Amino acid sequence: MKLASLLSVGAQICRPGSDCFSNATSRFVAGWAAPKFDMAVEVATQEDVQNTIRYANEQGKPFLAVSGRHGFTKSLGEMKNGVGIYMRQMNDVTISEDGKSATVGGGITSKELIDHLWARGKQSTTGACECTGIVSPMLGGGHGFLKGRYGLMTDNLISTDVVLADGSAVTVSESQHPDLFWAMRGAGQNFGIVTSFEYRIHDRTPKNELWSYDVMAFSTDKLEAVYEEAERQRQKAPVELGHWGFIIPVPEIDPSVHTLLFTVFYQGSKLPSKYTDPFHALGPIMSTPNVTEFPGFSKVLGMDLSSPVCQPGGPSYADYPVNLSSYNTTALREAVDILQSTPPDLHFSSMLIEGYSGAAVRAVPEASTAYPDRKRGILIGNLMNWPRARTDLAEEARRYGMRIQEALVRGSEDGKLHSYVNYAAGNEAREALYGYEPWRLEKLRGLKRRYDPYGRFNFYLPVEGEVMVEGVDGGKSEL
Ligand SMILES: Cc1cc2nc3c(=O)[nH]c(=O)nc-3n(C[C@H](O)[C@H](O)[C@H](O)COP(=O)(O)OP(=O)(O)OC[C@H]3O[C@@H](n4cnc5c(N)ncnc54)[C@H](O)[C@@H]3O)c2cc1C
Repeated sequence: MKLASLLSVGAQICRPGSDCFSNATSRFVAGWAAPKFDMAVEVATQEDVQNTIRYANEQGKPFLAVSGRHGFTKSLGEMKNGVGIYMRQMNDVTISEDGKSATVGGGITSKELIDHLWARGKQSTTGACECTGIVSPMLGGGHGFLKGRYGLMTDNLISTDVVLADGSAVTVSESQHPDLFWAMRGAGQNFGIVTSFEYRIHDRTPKNELWSYDVMAFSTDKLEAVYEEAERQRQKAPVELGHWGFIIPVPEIDPSVHTLLFTVFYQGSKLPSKYTDPFHALGPIMSTPNVTEFPGFSKVLGMDLSSPVCQPGGPSYADYPVNLSSYNTTALREAVDILQSTPPDLHFSSMLIEGYSGAAVRAVPEASTAYPDRKRGILIGNLMNWPRARTDLAEEARRYGMRIQEALVRGSEDGKLHSYVNYAAGNEAREALYGYEPWRLEKLRGLKRRYDPYGRFNFYLPVEGEVMVEGVDGGKSEL
């Protein structure tokens, strides 16, 4: 099979050394290991994706879809001598005549979708970071600032065109291949490559287009007081309210210690003082209130195109995430103490605490999608960070990350690890990612045998996968 002759005019084969190859294969974050490609195909049509997969199958080579290049989980490193299927050209958006949905290309990034919709008076759930892809977050659930109002990204998926492991193409929705549609919404990276999808979109209105916020900084001795108040607010939070915590050394404040950056945000032009006064009373080191339109909010939190997380070649990091249903300040303290005890090479490791409203997420029946964790809407990322060149530090980072994770799990309601699949390090038991109810993994594995019997999509937290290193549910992490 001569691939070049089968590709569309807009597609190209990218060989090592070319700009096209470097675009397709360079990573924004170096996780434990990055996928290794010896060629990439910049695809422009669904047929290009089909032909590239058929070519890879014929050659006996592994393949992997590449969109925003922000995937960092360990199993990506299992990809060797692979074919990268670079999706970024496929980023068109067409809004339907009734204005209720958009048909979106499978290689689009967050910012491209946000900006396109915003300019046309629309919005939907999108990720917090401007430069990640949309499809991969959506296939694993998809968290974002608007999830309390509109549900997870995956809850807004109406139908999707998918290329399967044998190169065939199907459209999946509630009425077409409904079992596969169920699996694509929570474990989708396991099943195929999304070339386009129909997405529910929503009107932005004068009432919901401005976001008010207050970015505060606290010394970490205020951790308990801040999160006791955050928990009080969370229990009765309106859909407009959210909290974002980031515990990291802040050079402008004191590079030698971690500081708690804590943002209260509110969808509306004025942040009600009842949500900020209790925090002001705790004596923040600084408080910066302001207002922005929704597309500007990623910048407020350091997740826009100009921020370090959007520059290729950043430091290595691995996340040891935990989903929680409430804040336990004793466990948080234990976790932050471990974070603050990391050796100098891991000093810039951090904890990210995303506490957005989850009202519309919880309103979706638990069993209706493969996303298993609708009641645990607080996402804690324990981001172990070390210089990219120091690969020798990965193991030490893992041990610290897992100790922090274990401290949070010990203080959680059921004492079990629940991790958002798109934040996962890769060492987690599959139940922690895809759900502890036995029927979930049984169903996913049955579908895997049907749709991907040879495990061609096994590079991203495979449902059949083994626990790759000992994890919270089966191992030790002593220093
Ligand atoms: C800085 C940062 C911020 C983040 N913020 C959020 C957030 O706000 N909300 C959230 O939910 N997640 C967030 N994540 C996690 C994010 O969902 C995952 O890292 C995701 O895999 C990134 O997708 P990508 O397209 O950017 O990366 P890629 O590395 O290009 O893709 C990751 C994997 O997804 C699969 N994939 C990619 N494209 C396709 C496709 N078209 N069809 C099928 N499979 C495909 C492939 O298996 C690929 O290996 C964030 C991650 C980072 C690093």
